[in-house]
Amino acid sequence: MEPRPTVAYFTMEIAVDPRLPTYSGGLGVLAGDAVRSAADLRVPMVTVTLLHRRGYFVQHLDELGRQTETPARWDVEGFLEELPARVTLTIHGRSVAVRAWRREVEGVGGARVPVLFLDTDLPENAPQDRELTHYLYGGDRRYRLCQEVVLGVGGVRLLQALGYHDITRYHMNEGHAALLAAELLRQTMSMRGETRVTDDAIAAVRRKCVFTTHTPVPAGHDVFPLDLAKEVLGRHDALEVSGLFTHDGLLNMTYAALNLSHYVNGVAKRHGEVSRKMFGSESVDSVTNGVHLATWAAPAFHALFDRYIEGWKADNASLRFAVHIPPDEIRAAHQQCKRELFDNIKSRTGVALDAGTLTIGYGRRATAYKRPTLLMDDPARLRRIAERVGKFQVVYAGKAHPNDQAGKELVRDLFRSIGTLRDAVQVVYLPNYDMGLGQLMTAGCDLWLNTPEPPMEASGTSGMKAAVNGVPSLSVLDGWWVEGCIEDVTGWSIGEPGRDHDRPRDAEALYSKLEQTIVPMYYRDPARYLRVMQGAIVLNASFFNTERMMHQYITKAYFS
Ligand SMILES: *Cc1c(COP(=O)(O)O)cnc(C)c1O
Repeated sequence: MEPRPTVAYFTMEIAVDPRLPTYSGGLGVLAGDAVRSAADLRVPMVTVTLLHRRGYFVQHLDELGRQTETPARWDVEGFLEELPARVTLTIHGRSVAVRAWRREVEGVGGARVPVLFLDTDLPENAPQDRELTHYLYGGDRRYRLCQEVVLGVGGVRLLQALGYHDITRYHMNEGHAALLAAELLRQTMSMRGETRVTDDAIAAVRRKCVFTTHTPVPAGHDVFPLDLAKEVLGRHDALEVSGLFTHDGLLNMTYAALNLSHYVNGVAKRHGEVSRKMFGSESVDSVTNGVHLATWAAPAFHALFDRYIEGWKADNASLRFAVHIPPDEIRAAHQQCKRELFDNIKSRTGVALDAGTLTIGYGRRATAYKRPTLLMDDPARLRRIAERVGKFQVVYAGKAHPNDQAGKELVRDLFRSIGTLRDAVQVVYLPNYDMGLGQLMTAGCDLWLNTPEPPMEASGTSGMKAAVNGVPSLSVLDGWWVEGCIEDVTGWSIGEPGRDHDRPRDAEALYSKLEQTIVPMYYRDPARYLRVMQGAIVLNASFFNTERMMHQYITKAYFS
């Protein structure tokens, strides 16, 4: 018998299983990893998300790198169990029925965390309302706000309809779920027979709410015009209390969540600092993200850790003992990962990469602030490094959001660079980056590259996936890498800490690190390179995992 859940984790996207396209990138993968670790740790948790019956999307790239999208349909009935409960919401003055589907995530010790997928695709709903839970991050602002009503308000009501009466903490993973606080406030007032929002009612809601922000700049906040909010939500007393849900005359989900939570955190130390400045609030804490090690360790490393470190899956900090693993065994496990990646690339694209060549990997959402083309800024310089210092090849992947024209342009730019460099540096761009490809790439490359514009990378997690597979990062000092980088020990930095971005200077720092340190070490001092690989496991995987992260949420936010 599982303990009755007291923590409800709300998230717009979640990577529960590689076969369920219900996530777009790092935020959803983090949610999935958090829930997997919650199950490992027997946290009494229930998770709420939307069904996304048509998924995020399938990415198609033509020979010029032009992206088109098709819906990612999936077998909902095959993976999830339908629950009989129904609740109703009012959206645009219409009644909208919501149901939930369940999947359970099982932890190392057998404990289970249910994940509830909300669904409005019911025959009793109007045709346009049936589509509200179809497309992750699809549609316009109105569609998004309707989705947030389903997630926040529908989620609270469904938990109650399903008998989850002991929830003492509602955790909002990003502001998309902030309307749950509006619903809790409405219920608190109605229970007390109050028609006006009182400080007492606000305090009661705040005690229950926890907010994790992932957005380091105001432009990234989820905001809606108030006229739109009134059309969608109708008159809503709680929303009209100035200052609680609004900021600069807009419904602002970040500020709403901030105002109605007793514990608020950013997702890395640096991001905590940036958030405190942005919100003018000293009370924003930080909990640095992690990854679920058993999910992201490739089969070869799984087997290696099983052989040398008993119980590592239930005690992630014990990966520090990877310091005793003979380096040759790490080399052999890595070579197996590299072969698996290259076989996969061969079958996907027909391109045969060379297993003896230093391979740089880059995979994440294709969007401007991540600067995917920084490495390609000076093709002549890259060519010189490859010809004079040592050969390298590059594996890219990433989807641009369908409306992100700048992101799509960057993918086309990369395809042009691939052509320009053809005879000197082999570069491949793999379509449809997802959990599975992410796992193969973070384990099978020799170096994991990240070049965001500081301070835009709130945390970043793909470098942590690389670390558990002994792959060092080369990254701008932003997000988690400010904490994770020990130069020449766990990987390498691009540029100095705490500086704003300067593209030419960052590109120069990237080239010189490759030219003077990494490429020479890889070919001329492979034993030293192997020690850095080991350092990534010992010092970074043992810490940047969701087991440590979940422990921090438990002590700071859930049971405090
Ligand atoms: C881990 C992961 C991400 C996040 O990568 P970052 O480098 O942290 O942006 C995005 N997409 C997928 C499929 C992932 O597995």
